[in-house]
Amino acid sequence: MKLYSTNNKTAEVSFQEAVFNSLPQDKGLYMPHEILRLPDDFLENLNQFDLPEIAFRVADNLLQGVIPSEDLRTIINDAINFPAPVVQLTEDKYVLELFHGPSLAFKDFGARFMSRIMAYFLREGEKELNVLVATSGDTGGAVALGFLGVPNTLVTILYPKGKVSEIQELQLTTNGQNIRAIEIDGTFDDCQALVKQAFVDAELNEKFRLTSANSINIARLIPQTFYYFNAVAQLKRAGKTDVVFSVPSGNFGNIGAGLLAWKMGLPVKHFIAATNANDTVPTFLNGGIYQPKTSVATISNAMDVGNPSNWARIMDVFKEDQNEITKLVSGYSFNDVQTADAIRQVYSMYNYVVCPHTAIAYLALEVWQKQHPQQENTGVFLATAHPCKFPDVFTDEIAAEIEIPKQVLELMDKPKKADSLGIDYASFKAYLLAEAGTSI
Ligand SMILES: *Cc1c(COP(=O)(O)O)cnc(C)c1O
Repeated sequence: MKLYSTNNKTAEVSFQEAVFNSLPQDKGLYMPHEILRLPDDFLENLNQFDLPEIAFRVADNLLQGVIPSEDLRTIINDAINFPAPVVQLTEDKYVLELFHGPSLAFKDFGARFMSRIMAYFLREGEKELNVLVATSGDTGGAVALGFLGVPNTLVTILYPKGKVSEIQELQLTTNGQNIRAIEIDGTFDDCQALVKQAFVDAELNEKFRLTSANSINIARLIPQTFYYFNAVAQLKRAGKTDVVFSVPSGNFGNIGAGLLAWKMGLPVKHFIAATNANDTVPTFLNGGIYQPKTSVATISNAMDVGNPSNWARIMDVFKEDQNEITKLVSGYSFNDVQTADAIRQVYSMYNYVVCPHTAIAYLALEVWQKQHPQQENTGVFLATAHPCKFPDVFTDEIAAEIEIPKQVLELMDKPKKADSLGIDYASFKAYLLAEAGTSI
């Protein structure tokens, strides 16, 4: 498998290089030169396979032998060790629950697979891999729990003090081992600025092997294709076809993976890109121009992105052709009032609690299905996080219905540990240097 940069199609880098670099120097995004269609006998008989087998076949088809089969199976079985069930709400509405991993969000798929791929490529005796992550909540938890106990890695997570939910903070601060958390007396942007400066610091780069575990890493995208195939497999077993996926979108990695799956032959009818008020992509899909904006804050804050970082990949899949993409993908955006209403509606109609991000995907599916009444379709909206991660958005009545999963209950008994720093770079750098060599 060789990859190019979306800004330089003639580039050829190895999978290993693309994983450790995350981002090409030219600021494009890595894409595989060949995205081969899966064999027909696999695509036609998806219903006969379970998630681990689907994951292996899909990954192997994409990686084309970069990782020997046996090792790839081990990586996948270790990384994807939780289910992704499709739950029926009505005759033509299903929810794909992607929140059964350790951090209770779909980002577990990407983070767990990427961490194990990185560990696999780290040769014995090589310099420890130093992962620096700034988080507003969700990414940090997935990365922390994804790398927890992974040999030869040390993860440093920066989060804004007092600005993450209680459960998110537990996921960041109770790990120990190779994970350390720093609460920064500032905003998420301050955290991100510190991490960015560290990456361009010559002295730190000399001392450490730094990596960002960035959400645009190709190794995070690949495992997100697995659950699209697995959802179609489950629906086929239930006698359902003509699947339409509605995907709550921020940086467009999740739906980007769906489109990669389509390219590999996923039997799917349509995709819906559902956003909050940050509507850069829906505006474009509805015939407007693509105009990145500054993000606005919403109650579905993991999707507050005005300039989606994976968009270049999606345009690349469709060879920059706006007509081609709009045939397969529709876009809708919703505001906070609509989102809160949808949470109440889903609860009262189906006795099912959705997180605010999931609520937006539900709304978009509703609208699309109403606009296409004559079409046979099986609507599936993706539930990207467990509602307990966003306790502030629910009414008391709904909040009382949310069951806290055991992954979280277990964390509550563990001691919390976070170091505290201000927003000045000198202290952060001194912290990193002082801790050098004292890690496990
Ligand atoms: C990250 C995230 C999203 C957005 O996913 P993208 O891949 O960035 O589009 C949606 N919902 C939740 C809960 C998230 O954490």
